[in-house]
Amino acid sequence: MWARFCQELAACVDLLLPPACLLCGQLLPTGLDAQSFCHACLTAMPPLSPAHCRRCAQPFPNATSNHLCGTCLKRPPSFSTVHAAGIYQGSIKDAVHQLKYRNQPTLAEPLGQILAKVITTAGSSFAPDCIVPVPLHPHRLRQRGYNQALEVARPIARELRVPLETTLLQRNRKTQQQQGLSATERRSNLRNAFVLTSKTVPRKILLIDDVMTTGETVRECCRTLVAGGVEDVQVAIIGRA
Ligand SMILES: [Zn+2]
Ligand SMILES: [Zn+2]
Repeated sequence: MWARFCQELAACVDLLLPPACLLCGQLLPTGLDAQSFCHACLTAMPPLSPAHCRRCAQPFPNATSNHLCGTCLKRPPSFSTVHAAGIYQGSIKDAVHQLKYRNQPTLAEPLGQILAKVITTAGSSFAPDCIVPVPLHPHRLRQRGYNQALEVARPIARELRVPLETTLLQRNRKTQQQQGLSATERRSNLRNAFVLTSKTVPRKILLIDDVMTTGETVRECCRTLVAGGVEDVQVAIIGRA
């Protein structure tokens, strides 16, 4: 009785306020989840190119096969692989930008669902003990009001049925914004920026972030996790630059 009433109420709300694409505002066809993207925005989300670094997912636009990129050969990262919803271009770039800088945390739900699907269809045997979002410094968290990596991690944890762990990895100090810094500056900016709050750590972790450009943030997080005793870390991000 109550469930039927809720269904009818939801149908009335849809009639009065038809669900719209969270990105472009275009009305969504009936029956589609209210928190989703329209077909045009979804098709403008470029998937990761078939040729990319096996380790860090850096796209190789002119290559035909996967191999290791120069950076991973020179400085092997502490993570074993990176899953990406797509390339940091088109609608993916728009969505991440709005999620991060335009106070649109609701975008995290459909983005996280897309990423969860990428992870499950990868068919990897990796079974994480928990999901860890890249932490924000408390100062930046106060400014933004939410941690976009945590918001993306929520639907992934739900879809993969893996617990979310939000206290183990913390920002140790405030770092300068990575944007606009050279690769070397990014590295020294982040050195020892993260700490573990416990000596007891899970064996396998899936680390979540919104976007990966040079990858220094994710590298430093994974270095900290592995130095603390985590055996295997995989990374999942929305956009790979
Ligand atoms: Zn749209
Ligand atoms: Zn690489």
